[in-house]
Amino acid sequence: MANLHFHYGTMGCSKTAQLVINAYNQNKNGNKTEIIKPKIDNRFSEDKVNSRVGISADAKVLSSLQGWSPAPDTKMVLIDEIQFFSPEDIDTLVRIADSKPIIIMCYGLMVDSNEHIFPASRRLVEVGAKLHRMESTCQISGCMHLATHHLRFDSAGNVVREGAQIAVGDSNYKSVCRKHFNMFYHAVEKDGRKGR
Ligand SMILES: [Zn+2]
Repeated sequence: MANLHFHYGTMGCSKTAQLVINAYNQNKNGNKTEIIKPKIDNRFSEDKVNSRVGISADAKVLSSLQGWSPAPDTKMVLIDEIQFFSPEDIDTLVRIADSKPIIIMCYGLMVDSNEHIFPASRRLVEVGAKLHRMESTCQISGCMHLATHHLRFDSAGNVVREGAQIAVGDSNYKSVCRKHFNMFYHAVEKDGRKGR
């Protein structure tokens, strides 16, 4: 069995709920788990992972994985919002996965709201993590296509096409299919200027 996994999907595809359920099942089977989340994610309580469906679990909050190592009796490490860590953090996970009898489960986003892959997510692909796509449908009303992209909106409802790749909080994001991403992101603006 692979010992380094990347469960990826768009916002709102139940990644955190699946993480919590996975940890619960391992603990029930007597396997000690550790849950980690990045320090940048302070959407909810500091030391918990919280899913939108209402389940949560205690988590360790770390700003970097370098210098961290799991407790000796830990059988599985589950990391939420992996895209907010760095490629060097992923290399740390590789060293742990390849030197200890442990399974590492990463959960997070693949692409940002500018259709660019997050550096940590790219590194997970490069190092051969086993990829699991978590599917959900486009959030544009009436569309049932697979959500693969994110659109970011400002407070006036305009699509945001630049700025920080890492923006925390999901109230201004929609998970959408490729067709709707292209339709909105590359839409002709009122002044006739075409979006990038
Ligand atoms: Zn769509």
